[in-house]
Amino acid sequence: MEPATPLPALALARVDGAPARGSAPSRFPAGPPPRLLALDAHGRILNWMSWQDAACLYARDAVAWTLGEPCLVLHGGVNRWTGRRSVLEIAPIIAARGHARSRIPDPTPPLTNAALFARDQWLCLYCGADGRRTALTRDHVVPTSKGGRDVWENVVAACIHCNSKKGGRTPQQAGMPLLAVPFRPSWVEHLILSNRHILADQMAFLKAHLPKRQRPSG
Ligand SMILES: [Zn+2]
Repeated sequence: MEPATPLPALALARVDGAPARGSAPSRFPAGPPPRLLALDAHGRILNWMSWQDAACLYARDAVAWTLGEPCLVLHGGVNRWTGRRSVLEIAPIIAARGHARSRIPDPTPPLTNAALFARDQWLCLYCGADGRRTALTRDHVVPTSKGGRDVWENVVAACIHCNSKKGGRTPQQAGMPLLAVPFRPSWVEHLILSNRHILADQMAFLKAHLPKRQRPSG
């Protein structure tokens, strides 16, 4: 009699660790393999995860349910009983068992320059200069020298010219009005802004979970 489900263990054995011959993802468009959207079993959005982490969830039988058509196919080792090569189809959205999130419902995304510039759409929020043509900096709307804090609500992307022109003044004092009001991105917004290769299924799911107050246009 055949042992029960030997496939996951074999797949894990080949997928675990650095991508080696025969174990790399074999079905995705050119470019980096997509990241997978991890949910807890209640459908709450957790984070992006690598295909290696996703494969581990499948192999440990820790996938509660999935959404979307498989976006990756992993080939593992050969099953010693059937002689067939194991195949693991990875879904773009994966809910894991035993991952109930007990923390605050909407954690503050880490404030990095990359995340800040993405929030401000790679534009200087004073003159509108395109950050792809000029270097951007992190400007504190209320300068730190005046007690301004290094938080999402008090920082904007600014070109070097505007940042030095504004100096240690507030926008009012400098006569430099902001083009938009800085805000703290929700966790879902953060996930959208932090991944340039979001699959259609993932984007539809994330957009449905955006806060009502603002949805990206277009
Ligand atoms: Zn500027």
